[in-house]
Amino acid sequence: MILVWVETEAGGLSEISLETLAFARSLAEAGGGIAIRAVLFGEVEDHEAASRELGAHGVGEVRQVVGEAFTSYAAAAWAAALQELRASTGSVVVTAAGSQRGNEVLAHLAARLDVPMAANVVSFDGLAPFVVTRQVVGGAAFEEMRLDRRPALFTVAGHSWTAVEVSDPAPATWVEERPEVAPADLLARVVATRTKAADGADDLKTAKVVVGAGRGAGGPDGFGAVAELAELLGGTVGVSRVVTSLGWRPHHEQVGQTGSRIAPDLYIPCGISGAIQHWAGCASSKTILAINTDPEAPMMTKATYAVIGDMHEVVPAIVDELRARR
Ligand SMILES: Cc1cc2nc3c(=O)[nH]c(=O)nc-3n(C[C@H](O)[C@H](O)[C@H](O)COP(=O)(O)OP(=O)(O)OC[C@H]3O[C@@H](n4cnc5c(N)ncnc54)[C@H](O)[C@@H]3O)c2cc1C
Repeated sequence: MILVWVETEAGGLSEISLETLAFARSLAEAGGGIAIRAVLFGEVEDHEAASRELGAHGVGEVRQVVGEAFTSYAAAAWAAALQELRASTGSVVVTAAGSQRGNEVLAHLAARLDVPMAANVVSFDGLAPFVVTRQVVGGAAFEEMRLDRRPALFTVAGHSWTAVEVSDPAPATWVEERPEVAPADLLARVVATRTKAADGADDLKTAKVVVGAGRGAGGPDGFGAVAELAELLGGTVGVSRVVTSLGWRPHHEQVGQTGSRIAPDLYIPCGISGAIQHWAGCASSKTILAINTDPEAPMMTKATYAVIGDMHEVVPAIVDELRARR
């Protein structure tokens, strides 16, 4: 059995958890058809819709953990519940999204069970023993890990798997669980949450096309053609930290380790060197078309396609060509 903690957001299932289910399914198939069971914490607005969606992503049964202790986030209590469910289901693997909470709760679980955990896994390369590859340094490097004890605990890096529905979906069976919680597991719990006002960063994280600009833009007035190209391609603008630090563009447009992680179909970084901290935020882009005067810039050597040239000539030329074709 593979136990997958599926996170909820805004009453629905989180995208990164659906990606985690794709990872779990692949593991289940490689293991000869191991069953997948999902765990949800707290309230779910529409049980039927959730059980249909989970069934469509390969889950046979859902355990919804309910009770006063689970209405708000408490890492130790949630780990205790997962520990109980792991034991009662005899699961050999427990997985969760490589989110802040996923990593925190599974680390608690690993400590409680005294078993290994691999965080931010992107692929698995062996089952006996488990061998996985995981992202480190914000996605700028990868490590291969061997886990010599079971159950194995994994969190799955965002955007490393694609959520795909099964061909013959059936709604997952729904079971409620009310685990006992020790007072010690509730010593740290969330008592209030404030949501930041929307600022455009969400658009950047989900955009299919991002046109990026860095110091090569030359100043706050150097982004006209970049913004125009983004608009023509139905995308959005993303920038390097130099650009936000200099106040040329707002922080919510920053891509990178201390900005947004993006995974567009197409990323066009213009005048961006591709420093490791920037790469950490754009490495999941499916295609990268870099524009830079320096052919040796790291971004140019890593890109799918590279144009050696001045962005102030190349980007307007692309814009003109796109306009002419339309
Ligand atoms: C803790 C920490 C966190 C960080 N987090 C981030 C982060 O989240 N995101 C981020 O981006 N950076 C981050 N940085 C900064 C990072 O290290 C780099 O300094 C930054 O990414 C460089 O930005 P840049 O590529 O725009 O500038 P530069 O490195 O100065 O590169 C400019 C590039 O533009 C090219 N160029 C110049 N003129 C033109 C032109 N006319 N046409 C075409 N190309 C031209 C140059 O050849 C060069 O490659 C972080 C740094 C630290 C220490």
